[in-house]
Amino acid sequence: MPERIFQNSSYLNAKSTTGTNTRVKDVSPTSGMCPICIRDCPFLCEIGLSAFRGREALYPDPLQFGYSTAGALKDFRLDWSHFNIQSRLFEVYGIEADSDKAIFENASTETTIGGIPQKIPVINGAFGSTMVGRVNWPGLAIGSALSGVSIIVGENVCGMDPESVITNGKVTYSKELKRRVDLFRKFWDGKYGEVIVQTNVEDQRLGVDVYAISNLEVNVIERKWGQGAKAIGGEVRIRDLDRAIMLKKRGYIVIPDPEDPTVQEAFKAGVFKSFERHSRVGIPKERDFVEDIEWLRSQGAKKVFLKTGAYRPSAVAYTMKLASEAKVDVVTFDGAGGGTGMSPVPMMDEMSIPTVYLEAWVLKCAQILKKKGKHVPDILMAGGFINETQIFKAIALSNFGDGPFVKGVLMGRSPLTAVMKASYFIELAQKGKLPKSFVEKFGDTPEKFFVTTPELKAKYGERFKEIPWEAVGLYTYLHERIRVGLMQLMAGARKWRLDLLDRSDLMALTERAAKVTGIPLVEEAEADAIERILDN
Ligand code: SF4
Repeated sequence: MPERIFQNSSYLNAKSTTGTNTRVKDVSPTSGMCPICIRDCPFLCEIGLSAFRGREALYPDPLQFGYSTAGALKDFRLDWSHFNIQSRLFEVYGIEADSDKAIFENASTETTIGGIPQKIPVINGAFGSTMVGRVNWPGLAIGSALSGVSIIVGENVCGMDPESVITNGKVTYSKELKRRVDLFRKFWDGKYGEVIVQTNVEDQRLGVDVYAISNLEVNVIERKWGQGAKAIGGEVRIRDLDRAIMLKKRGYIVIPDPEDPTVQEAFKAGVFKSFERHSRVGIPKERDFVEDIEWLRSQGAKKVFLKTGAYRPSAVAYTMKLASEAKVDVVTFDGAGGGTGMSPVPMMDEMSIPTVYLEAWVLKCAQILKKKGKHVPDILMAGGFINETQIFKAIALSNFGDGPFVKGVLMGRSPLTAVMKASYFIELAQKGKLPKSFVEKFGDTPEKFFVTTPELKAKYGERFKEIPWEAVGLYTYLHERIRVGLMQLMAGARKWRLDLLDRSDLMALTERAAKVTGIPLVEEAEADAIERILDN
């Protein structure tokens, strides 16, 4: 979409997220409406769609729910592309200054996040009860395990599981949560990565944390305060009336009320095709939170994570203060712009703090805490990460000289895309319907078009047959693209370890990027170098 459109905010009335279009392209810069709006217009703009579907028009195309992910389309005027990475020639860090050793293949992308070893500074998640997470879980979980990274089981999995056993209000069995944990562990090497279980208000009421720790031997629990895509609780669509009623009975907010006879009649008549299931938002209180984290540890949680959204500066500061006091291991700040299954489109586009701005505030908080000698949790950033360049920049930005505060990134949509792409192309291959150009370039069978097949076959032998191709897709994306891409960038910056990446590796391309982060503009970076070197 042309820059002009974003600058004029005219995407207000036509978005690919909702499948809306305007009749003419030269729309009003203020409203996004066609300058002449006519009665006989066959197009569905945002207003037109809303006239028919009301609240449904707030969401990404409901028919795609479960088979898609969605994020913001707005240009937030500051993102990772507004920085470039500085390369070096004379200095070498983290490896011997020997041209035979200082090759990119020797750069190490290994790190620890909250003390958990990781082969790449990426955690995948959180994939909760939303259908797209459930359906794609085998590829996501096994692909994460193969890649040596952690994965987070998101919220509401036990509450949404029809086969959960709930005794006296507490979950004592969940087939689905067990499946999720077991699938990761099937190919886990026992060292790199972990399966983490996230809990929101409803999960805490149901005792999901205690069930996960004591019955499934889960080591890491994450508390959830929000997400970047929306500042309200998690939502999913339910296409089945009985299931909607079951969820209402389990304490969820279900809209419209599935027990209302008028609603049931309308649903059966096809007036609407799905219910919305909403989660409650937490309202954290200082003492309660610190006690809750202590309680979690006493229940057996070896690590405690906290996930929060893209809230205002005071909320960021308060979150860091509480997380420090409670000695939380990892805090994830999820910036606006990301998304997964179902978030209101206007909220994704127009609300909360985009990722780079958010990281700048988080770093300010981390520096203050550190100066005071307080505990600083490891930080993960989330919100629109899809590749190694963003990961490099997010980590480098956070190192003021004593090592990076940001230990890695959380990715949600992109691992799902890798898994869904693999899944769809396998289906096309089975039907002999792969695009001709794809077959010509990469071959017509998964063994040929997944480039990592030979190495995985060699590593896993007979067990290779148990690895779903979707997991191979995620492994290929994470291990063979992101890991290698990151190694190349590190070697270009002449840094062979992740903890060596620092702010001197970055330059700002725009004045806003420089102002928000303190990274010098290209024309200001190493401003004295030329005279210092040549005048002496
Ligand atoms: S209904 Fe009016 S504003 Fe909407 S697309 Fe048609 S002409 Fe344009």
